Amino acid sequence: MTETFLEEQLLGLSPRRKVMVGAVLVLGGGVASAVLWGMGWLVGATIFAFVMGVALVLSGSGELARIRAQDAEVEKARLEWSELERGAGDALRHGRSVVRFLQERGYREFAVRRWIVAELGIDARRGHLEFEAAGAPFSADQLRKLFERLDEVSGKGYECDHQFTLTRRFLEEQRMPTAASLRWLGEHGAGCDCEVIFNVEQQWGNRVGFEPRR
Ligand SMILES: [Zn+2]
Repeated sequence: MTETFLEEQLLGLSPRRKVMVGAVLVLGGGVASAVLWGMGWLVGATIFAFVMGVALVLSGSGELARIRAQDAEVEKARLEWSELERGAGDALRHGRSVVRFLQERGYREFAVRRWIVAELGIDARRGHLEFEAAGAPFSADQLRKLFERLDEVSGKGYECDHQFTLTRRFLEEQRMPTAASLRWLGEHGAGCDCEVIFNVEQQWGNRVGFEPRR
């Protein structure tokens, strides 16, 4: 077993174990090098153990401190969750950075900020806001349903006739404004049913919460 291999194994331990093993190495290495002082290479080995022990204690306690800091921030987030929701919503509406808002509120841990953003569904909400800003004559929900309909029939072997046959039928069924809707779809790259999926879905699918069938 080479020294580097041993080091890698020791550094892969959980933080608490690192501190424990490190403390044992510091004590054992320290005592052994005092007893064996002057006995050549044996002392070298005990000094190595001592140094390794110090490194483990430092690394382990650093990681423990990090974990404690993250736990504290998660706890704080749970306590002020409704304020975070409101603040993040405001930031999104005014085009400000949600991450900066969280930093200003004292969230210093990257992992915690990422967790909060995911829990708040920020990506989904940003997508909805962008969709609203694009001024479509229908809702995000309606567009998602159109994608779902077209996706479903294309899975059943529907071949596009390069017109808006199915789209038009869907719009009429849903009592959506046909001419204005087709114009919006056209402005976003669709000239027919299959292009609604190929071009419009590519841009907007994610943002209106559409998930293609596998
Ligand atoms: Zn087509």
